[in-house]
Amino acid sequence: MTRRDYLNSALLGSGSLLLTGVSPRDLLAREDWDGYSGVGDYAGSNGNTIEVLTDGNKIRDHVFEPLPDNLIDTGEEYDCAVIGGGISGLAAALFFGRQAGPRRTCLVLENHGVFGGEGRRNEFVVDGQRLIAHQGSAMFFPPLDGTFLASFYESIGIDYRQFQYQSWAGHEPEVPLGRTSYTRGGANFGFFFGAKFGQGKGLWLIDPWGKKLEGAPITDSARRELLAVHASKTVLPKRHGDALSRQLDSITLEQHLMDTCGVSRETIRTFVSPLAGGGSGLGADALSAYAEYAADVLLPWKYDVGAQMFPGGNAGVARHITKALIPDSIPGDATLKNVCRSRLQMAALDRAGQPARVRLRATVVQVEHEGKPEAAGAVRIVYFQNGKLYRVKARSAIMAGGSWTTKHIVKGLPQAHRDAYAQFHRAPCLMANVALRNWRFLYKQGICECQWFEGIGNSFALRKMATFGDVSPAVSPDSPVATTLKILFSTPGLSMEEQVSRGRGELLATPFREYERRIRGQLGMMFSAAGFDARRDMAGLILNRWGHAYLSPQPGFFFGKGGKPGPAEILRQQPFGRIAFANSDLAGIMDHRTSILEAQRAAGQVVSVLDGVGRG
Ligand SMILES: Cc1cc2nc3c(=O)[nH]c(=O)nc-3n(C[C@H](O)[C@H](O)[C@H](O)COP(=O)(O)OP(=O)(O)OC[C@H]3O[C@@H](n4cnc5c(N)ncnc54)[C@H](O)[C@@H]3O)c2cc1C
Repeated sequence: MTRRDYLNSALLGSGSLLLTGVSPRDLLAREDWDGYSGVGDYAGSNGNTIEVLTDGNKIRDHVFEPLPDNLIDTGEEYDCAVIGGGISGLAAALFFGRQAGPRRTCLVLENHGVFGGEGRRNEFVVDGQRLIAHQGSAMFFPPLDGTFLASFYESIGIDYRQFQYQSWAGHEPEVPLGRTSYTRGGANFGFFFGAKFGQGKGLWLIDPWGKKLEGAPITDSARRELLAVHASKTVLPKRHGDALSRQLDSITLEQHLMDTCGVSRETIRTFVSPLAGGGSGLGADALSAYAEYAADVLLPWKYDVGAQMFPGGNAGVARHITKALIPDSIPGDATLKNVCRSRLQMAALDRAGQPARVRLRATVVQVEHEGKPEAAGAVRIVYFQNGKLYRVKARSAIMAGGSWTTKHIVKGLPQAHRDAYAQFHRAPCLMANVALRNWRFLYKQGICECQWFEGIGNSFALRKMATFGDVSPAVSPDSPVATTLKILFSTPGLSMEEQVSRGRGELLATPFREYERRIRGQLGMMFSAAGFDARRDMAGLILNRWGHAYLSPQPGFFFGKGGKPGPAEILRQQPFGRIAFANSDLAGIMDHRTSILEAQRAAGQVVSVLDGVGRG
């Protein structure tokens, strides 16, 4: 299976959620926003918190312009400031230290209460057992031998060969659980059809592909078309930038599926969107067709080994990078078990005197050269923390926070860079982690993965957990499990801007209790006949709201239009004075590997500036 196969595993999805037409400016009260946030290092840090969102909106609303006089100058001066403490920002700091040498200093400024960005995790304790789930970034792709990524992972203590997973417990026949939370299809995979398909009581079709959709309450033509999409073979472009990749980038994914599989627009919009954008947030009608293939063209991996997953998804990668950056932020050796289980030492992250520091709950509101960018010797960075504004100085800066804040906070950004960022669209996503006391109701039906086409969410898959987490070594239908509902917001037919803004409006204005009600109702509708009782079986729910989850590349994002390069190229190739640009969104591929690779490039660029070799 390629990365594409995982993300679109069944290549089917449901229509959009109900539109509320609310404005993203209608922010919820804290108690309506947060809900329960779990235990452990990430308690209180689920998705975008209301504080982060409120401070972010102040940037958008120009509240900090002009800067007030009571700004506090910390007097600190660093060789590099990294804005954003996700995987890209953390990696940028690590690469900076490795390339610039141990005497040079670096400060990472991150607006959430824990580092990791979309690579964070949730933890529950249910009936005495710890359950761990990802907040966003999930899958880890074993690298090909001899690649840069292979050596990078090795350097931070990640060896995919050491991943061991829970064994099957009990005497009943085993249901083969996967290692990730993405569906794979197969004999224990089920489709649910409800009222939308005239099935008031609900109808389960188990192993739909094996049964060639026989028994599905859909038209013959929809059946034929879906089987054609499912059977279609991935033909990867040979090279990023070859004629096929460029042709794919010139059309939407919807057009591509219509052309190659003979499937109708209606079938795509009823079944395929938005899961076709599982790795890019929006539906097939909005995305560049190349978005489906780019990751596997650029970053092939050990498909035969299969995707792996840390217990909390790529929070594991963020923790390993942080351990390498500030060794005593996670005590003990850099083993998988230790880095996953040890509690974070928050006080170690930001201590005076150490070469790298990570400062949390700090929203950067302005980044400006001291004087003319081409001649300036430093950059001033202003951040907002606990209601106060602070200023630090750095000889260089790496913007790793993502397009949606970078474009607002870098002062004097040249027009070409601004035009480029105007072409970045980030779609929202809600990741709902549901803790179940047991999953006997699924086992009874022979299901461990499923997909549906109405209501909230689209799919989930139970997984066996990697045992280096603080989790039970075995799993059975009576074990507590955490499962993840990824809730995407697409409204096929609208422009990308409209889809993004409507989706975000709904995400930001829907109270926790309303989402809880819908999720309980959805699970009840699908599983109550098999014995599921939300009151008894649902032990917890954590919502991770991501207002700007996915860069959703439109046609032309990768290779440009009308002879002009793609928007990311200028940002990658032309640092602005002492400021370079990172974050996975520059690649157009939402993948932690691109976070790392963009960070490596950006760190090299600022080190060249500091060494007097290059200046943008
Ligand atoms: C739902 C979801 C599922 C995903 N699944 C996978 C997967 O399975 N595998 C995979 O490899 N990738 C996956 N990804 C892609 C994911 O984006 C990357 O893996 C990676 O986590 C991105 O890291 P980043 O550092 O580039 O960006 P981010 O994680 O977005 O980090 C940027 C950080 O900077 C902070 N920031 C922004 N502006 C400011 C500011 N002004 N001041 C201070 N801080 C700021 C942000 O809040 C954030 O914490 C997924 C993404 C999502 C949303």
